[in-house]
Amino acid sequence: MNPSLLKRATTTFQTGGVKAILQRARIFLRRRFYRVVSPLQRMNAEVCGIDVPKEVVAACMYKARFKIYNRSRIAWNATGSKSPTFSAAAIVVDQNGETYEAEQAHLQRDMGPGSSCEIDLSVEIPRRPGKYTLRVDIVRENCYWFTEIGRVVFETPILVTTHSVSLFTSRIPAIDITLDITNKCPLKCIQCRKTYFETFDEQRDMNFDLFKKISAEVFPHARSVMLSSAGEPLMTKTLFDAVDITRSYNVREISFISAGFHLNSGRAEKIVDNGVTRVEFSIDGASAAVYNKIRIGSDFDKVIKNITYLSEYKKKKKSRTPLLRFNYVLMKNNIHELPEFIDLAAKLGVEEVQCQHMVIFVEGIKGEALIFDKERSNLYISQAKDRASRHGIRFYHPPLFDIGEQHTETKSVLDGKIWLQEDQYDYERKTHPILQDGMQLCTDPWRKLYIDWQGLVFPCCVWKEEPLGDLRTSSFLEIWESIRYRELRMGLTTGKLGKSCAECSVITGGDVNNEQSYFFGQN
Ligand code: SF4
Ligand code: SF4
Repeated sequence: MNPSLLKRATTTFQTGGVKAILQRARIFLRRRFYRVVSPLQRMNAEVCGIDVPKEVVAACMYKARFKIYNRSRIAWNATGSKSPTFSAAAIVVDQNGETYEAEQAHLQRDMGPGSSCEIDLSVEIPRRPGKYTLRVDIVRENCYWFTEIGRVVFETPILVTTHSVSLFTSRIPAIDITLDITNKCPLKCIQCRKTYFETFDEQRDMNFDLFKKISAEVFPHARSVMLSSAGEPLMTKTLFDAVDITRSYNVREISFISAGFHLNSGRAEKIVDNGVTRVEFSIDGASAAVYNKIRIGSDFDKVIKNITYLSEYKKKKKSRTPLLRFNYVLMKNNIHELPEFIDLAAKLGVEEVQCQHMVIFVEGIKGEALIFDKERSNLYISQAKDRASRHGIRFYHPPLFDIGEQHTETKSVLDGKIWLQEDQYDYERKTHPILQDGMQLCTDPWRKLYIDWQGLVFPCCVWKEEPLGDLRTSSFLEIWESIRYRELRMGLTTGKLGKSCAECSVITGGDVNNEQSYFFGQN
């Protein structure tokens, strides 16, 4: 042993004992074998753009691919593993330094020092055309790490153009896709169009080979995929195969809507284990007495038991997904249960409740529309809102009726819409995305796609004209770039609208106080 060290150890032993020797040895070893690094030095990253858009269209969302290297001395834990957790985000910054909301993407796996991974990030494009900067940052426990410490790990200029120019750009934005893997539904809900216009014998599942073809062509462009809208997906044998295929295309959000009647323990476990990110249950009452009269053929107690199992299994697996949402169609015979419905949602661990007014498909249900019962509607929506905020539930609802001064504020905030276009509404600016000559224009044909069980393509779920294409006979790109699609987009840019758009509530405003807004085909 080094004699001076021995001498120092002996002295230390005499003055401070064994503890002091160990302490000194620890310091010696740390200095000898490790460089002391500050927390800032401990975090380092390098980001390269692999597929990054240069010219994009306002108010759309794009996917961009990056390679991220962990150049730090610490491991980055992916979500779900040990904390702290790390993710990544692409942020758009304007020339004044204002940043636009970024969506975080979880790392696919834990990344040790020196490792790298490729990651797809969604880039949310601002609504105003102009020159911007696209930045990438590593997010540590919801904190933009490098932005916080004033460093930039990736930056590139990005040009945001208007929608009309987009007709000639080749890059497709990340699209929100609704695809009906079935249009089968055995229920006869009193507010549903299918109840009056379709028999069960006419209803079918999507051919699974067709589903595979569509997923190969369309899902690489998808930001989110909802696997149902006009049927009961839990009745199809192929639902979870469809979920697996969808996930294989790195689709961020995989969801479906269900009545909950066909949920059982096995399916509930698959929902959690197979990575479904969101499930919406349509339930229009807080008691069996009300619910069973609306959702004919279903059973309130069974539905609640099924959802309870799903919620408990999710808790047991400590899973953050699926996000649970309840949908509620507002009618005269169920409006009084809306506040209790919020309590029920809270009890079941539901994070979001959305309600909307009933659409009048047939004259026979007209009496259920709440435009004929405005005071009660306002009262119970207000009560439900209070309870939701007490429970911490996100509550989306249509504006209150204009029945006096006390509701003016709500009306102006929500712009008098019968259907709350929550994804199109800019809550901070209180505007719709594009306003031209005072007309509200829609961006759905640039960023959404609706595919029915036969493979027919529509730009949105309220389209009343012929489909814009057929994926059985045409490719997705042929349809997306077709003359009809271009004409539709051009019309929404210039105000020369076809029948569907001209009558659509997105354009007309769908005034909640106007009786005509409640009739399908006249809003
Ligand atoms: S469950 Fe949905 S699709 Fe089926 S009848 Fe009811 S509202 Fe219509
Ligand atoms: S019908 Fe309405 S939602 Fe559909 S594309 Fe036209 S304006 Fe948009």
